[in-house]
Amino acid sequence: MKKPFLLTVLCGLALSQLYAQRTLIHCGKLIDGLANDIQNQVTIIVEKNRIMAVEKGYTKPQPTDKLVDLKAKTVLPGLTDMHVHIESEMSRDQYLKRMSNNPADIAFEAQKNALTNLMAGFTAVRDLGGSGVNIALRNAITKGLVSGPRIFTSGQTIATTGGHGDPTNGLSPMYTVPDKVTDGIVDSPDAARKAVRQRYKDGADCIKITATGGVLSIAKSGKAPQFTDEEAVAIVQTAKDYGFHVAAHAHGTEGMKRAIRAGVTTIEHGTYMDDEAIELFKKMGTYYVPTIIAGRSAADSAKIIGYYHPFVRMKALETGPLIQKTFEKAYKSGVKIAFGTDAGVFAHGKNAKEFEYMTEVGMPPMEAIKAATIVPAQILGEQNNMGSISQGKYADIIATDENPLQNIKTLQNVVFVMKDGIIYKQ
Ligand SMILES: [Zn+2]
Repeated sequence: MKKPFLLTVLCGLALSQLYAQRTLIHCGKLIDGLANDIQNQVTIIVEKNRIMAVEKGYTKPQPTDKLVDLKAKTVLPGLTDMHVHIESEMSRDQYLKRMSNNPADIAFEAQKNALTNLMAGFTAVRDLGGSGVNIALRNAITKGLVSGPRIFTSGQTIATTGGHGDPTNGLSPMYTVPDKVTDGIVDSPDAARKAVRQRYKDGADCIKITATGGVLSIAKSGKAPQFTDEEAVAIVQTAKDYGFHVAAHAHGTEGMKRAIRAGVTTIEHGTYMDDEAIELFKKMGTYYVPTIIAGRSAADSAKIIGYYHPFVRMKALETGPLIQKTFEKAYKSGVKIAFGTDAGVFAHGKNAKEFEYMTEVGMPPMEAIKAATIVPAQILGEQNNMGSISQGKYADIIATDENPLQNIKTLQNVVFVMKDGIIYKQ
């Protein structure tokens, strides 16, 4: 008797699930994110979105297996950039765009930026501040509606009145903005606590504060501390209640120290870090996210007359070129480093140039790679899912033509990208 059509379909489904296709990746060289040495001739076995096994030698595929031949490549865990702004990209008209873009405009640009990061080998990013579209984009990527890296986002930044991150800086008093736009502007410990709770309500993954002035805001000082000790402590303590870690933007020394003492997890930029700050980093176990490339790019753009507001130009020329030296000193003093670029301040997709700047001043390539793989996974609390090529982790895998330990620039030209078991670039 003929089987009913539906039953045939169901049996087919069951069978295909039973013999779910595995992907075998033959890797000529493997940097797994954990070992200090490169391994030769390794097979990664991927099933659905996870790494099922990592085997020595080239495992022979079964007839149902899909084979990816990367025998001539160096394979690495997908990279994580711990500081991007996924919603935007700096341009001459960026300040005007803030006035004219509506959330839908932002969403389309953000999606393009997300895809650019993914194709550059960044299978995860920590997004440190935007309008709130960043949260919607993360959700859309998680649902598979659009393609992009795994996003861990702070939603809207928390700042103080007139501080770096106050979205109304430079705005004529003729205009008012909806309350939602300024709900991260706080001037007391109570308001600070409320802002953290609001981000929990909004669905953020972490908290971003601007502990000192910044380069690209229309405000005079890039260094001034912007939160009192009490406000900084209120933010960190409340963040802990909700399982958030806190990232603090800081150029100036005093605001940086207040943020570290309050217990933030990462300091971004860190430009005017002094010896006392370095000791505080080490004492508190705080990570430093340098963003050397952002400083250099801002200084380059500032050389173009009229590119920035006069306040911004002055700060970019002064502050931008200093970060690499700060990084060198911090690294050599034993401060823990996590890879982050501030992509969005410069063109998305150029993130891996940061590796060149990090290694140029003495960080060994393997350590720089770990700063962008296993270290971010630990900071994000995702060490069981991300950051290395090992059994049970997400199949977030990239490859380069050359061995990055010999030529770090090869990371700027990633030739293979798999995220969550899906190949995006080959
Ligand atoms: Zn930033």
